[in-house]
Amino acid sequence: MTIIPFFSERLGNINALRATISVDKRCPVDRELAVKDNSLWLGSTKLIDSTVLGIPLDPNLITTTNMDQQPDKNNETILWDIKIGTQQQQVPRLAYDHEPKELLPAKALREFELISCNHCSCPLVRAQDSKAPFRHKDMPSEHWYELVECWICHETKPEEHRARMKPILAKPDVLLVGSTYYLVHSDNLTPDSLVVDRDVASKINWDNGTYTKWITVNCTSCSMPLGEGQYEKYDEEPILRAVKLFKYCVSILPTPTLTPCEMPTFMDFLVCDLVNAAKAHATYRFLIQGRNTGKIYCLIWLFNWDTQIIYNRGFVSPSEPADVYHERAMKVLYLDCSDPISKQTEQHVAAWSVDKTSEHLLYPDAYCVQLISNLQKTTLLLPPSARVMNHPAMRTTMNFSVGFIKRP
Ligand SMILES: [Zn+2]
Repeated sequence: MTIIPFFSERLGNINALRATISVDKRCPVDRELAVKDNSLWLGSTKLIDSTVLGIPLDPNLITTTNMDQQPDKNNETILWDIKIGTQQQQVPRLAYDHEPKELLPAKALREFELISCNHCSCPLVRAQDSKAPFRHKDMPSEHWYELVECWICHETKPEEHRARMKPILAKPDVLLVGSTYYLVHSDNLTPDSLVVDRDVASKINWDNGTYTKWITVNCTSCSMPLGEGQYEKYDEEPILRAVKLFKYCVSILPTPTLTPCEMPTFMDFLVCDLVNAAKAHATYRFLIQGRNTGKIYCLIWLFNWDTQIIYNRGFVSPSEPADVYHERAMKVLYLDCSDPISKQTEQHVAAWSVDKTSEHLLYPDAYCVQLISNLQKTTLLLPPSARVMNHPAMRTTMNFSVGFIKRP
């Protein structure tokens, strides 16, 4: 039996659930479609059970639109757009608060024994090698930390302020836990376990800005990116003072007190960065840039940072199993800028690069590639006609694809 492909999204701002379904063109959709028991039915087939959304559907508010203006004679199916009213929520949306979940905070780490490279398991920090028992501390917000760095640069005596700011820098035998990384003092690193990225380091201008620089570091044994090292230089070779190990690049033992399915992935940390940047700077447009190469991989326009989607995978392929998925997600418009790059893409990138309201987010190149691939998979969940923005009146998003990022 083939499934009825559908994709639905909650439109919180207008209290509605919008669904697109693809059905046989002979099917009398207007007559067959109904809302009962808080679910959307087509004849005797239950399409969407809205109880997972936690909001009641209004059986009296339903509109259907036949999306095929000029039905293709060879095509046996037709797309229908359905809007169903939802009743306003009486309870505060506590469960759907905009705050991103804290991912791997200090309290989840217990007494850690080892931090190792995610890719090759090479040890990077061993608690047993430290002189004193390791302490774990959550760091203040990433944006506050950035702000302090930025602020002291503009002071008349930045050295004095820097000296005063030192307590929040890495300290031996303390694991400082940021939102997306662990900050470790160089004394605690397993000797020669990481190495500066030569390409990135060669582009650093030491005569400019602060006398410490954050430079990409890679795993010595497998060359995979691990994070950023804080290098300091007076006259000689730069000296490594501390390192930020990105949480998605390393493993920590014993395994944090989370269930395996809660173990955050790179995409979860991306959500965290997007939400935090949106909150701190009211930024909704992001250039995703490779940390190693500086290349722009994609543009992301944060369209809705907290929505819910219900779908089956029928639009990906009609032979997919009939399983129905419900996710809390971010809706984004994105433009894949990896090769081959078109003239129009180049124009979009150029415009966003000079636009002060858009923000650069840097990730190791391998993760930028993974991000595009993940986004593309979500685009396929939509009916083909809804995957790409191509309305001539909306030039700023022309050729952007629609995608979703699952929220942790
Ligand atoms: Zn490695």
